[in-house]
Amino acid sequence: MNLGNLTIEELKSVCADLGEPQYRAKQIFAWVAKGVESYDEMTNLGKELRSKLNEKYEIFVPEIEQKYVSELDGTVKYLLRLADGEYVETVIMNYKYGYSACVSTQIGCRMGCSFCASALTSLRRNLEPYEIIGQILRAQKDRNITVSHIVFMGMGEPLDNYDAVLKSIRLMNHPEGLGIGMRHFTISTCGLVENMVKLVNEGLPITLAVSLHAPNDAIRQRIMPIARAYSFDRILDACRTYIEKTNRRITFEYTLIDGVNDAPEHAEQLADRLHGMLCHVNLIPVNPVKERGNVRSRKENVETFLSILQRRHIEATVRRELGSDINASCGQLRNQRNNG
Ligand code: SAH
Repeated sequence: MNLGNLTIEELKSVCADLGEPQYRAKQIFAWVAKGVESYDEMTNLGKELRSKLNEKYEIFVPEIEQKYVSELDGTVKYLLRLADGEYVETVIMNYKYGYSACVSTQIGCRMGCSFCASALTSLRRNLEPYEIIGQILRAQKDRNITVSHIVFMGMGEPLDNYDAVLKSIRLMNHPEGLGIGMRHFTISTCGLVENMVKLVNEGLPITLAVSLHAPNDAIRQRIMPIARAYSFDRILDACRTYIEKTNRRITFEYTLIDGVNDAPEHAEQLADRLHGMLCHVNLIPVNPVKERGNVRSRKENVETFLSILQRRHIEATVRRELGSDINASCGQLRNQRNNG
């Protein structure tokens, strides 16, 4: 077991088992959140406790395999190596409000979206909480920065690794650890309805983003196999529940693919469906992935799509592209590595 998977409560019972006082739990927790990589760094713990911990619990922060820094905007993309030799991708973006980390939640993905590079690898395994948090710890140490916002938009489907993602959020939120505010987390999902509802019922003020990418079931099913399991109606119902319960705006992601989902009638249809909802539509011209053959929407089509939504009073923006010179999106590095 990795020490970084444990809450303070769980560390308290570890301490009790080892015959150590409870206050040690907080100290251990704080060291792990600093990204220590050996027990020797935990200088306020006795030698004996350190060696007892060392016998039972590992500590590990993912290692940098490759790193790319964008010359355009300072975005940093990492390919990180995990303890078992698997790779994950993490991106750090610098916004006016601070540093935001885009983290991975799985190695590979089983959702199979037709435009996505991560889905080129079927699911290999889920990440554990310490591997999710470790992506941030490594980046913080490497860049000497403090990350203030986390988006679960890297490789994998966060709601397909529900327990580990939720635990990682609770661990990162804890004031004795990274202390990242609940409102600073965004979970992006392709629409796993049961788990969306489960998430809503957790009552946490985190932001939900839903990958719609189509204005109707027919087109959605063509590009997102998971749409066969969850209809557009069911997803929108779950979104309405989220809005009612949290009073928060929901984000819809809509990747524009030339000739597939980017016609004016698609924008009109989307506006019909989202009418009256507290939402924001994020339009993303598709990032062409070599193996996928999708072509990015033409600029004028993106503009038309946007203006139709706005005319229909649906709040929408075109996503500002960061790190476009370093392939800073969508599982592309890991695949390069695996193919070459
Ligand atoms: N599994 C989650 C997180 C995925 S990545 C989800 O589906 O939401 C975050 C966003 O990037 C998703 O909206 C995803 O559909 C989108 N995306 C994936 N590949 C893309 C590509 N090649 N170009 C543009 N957006 C892409």
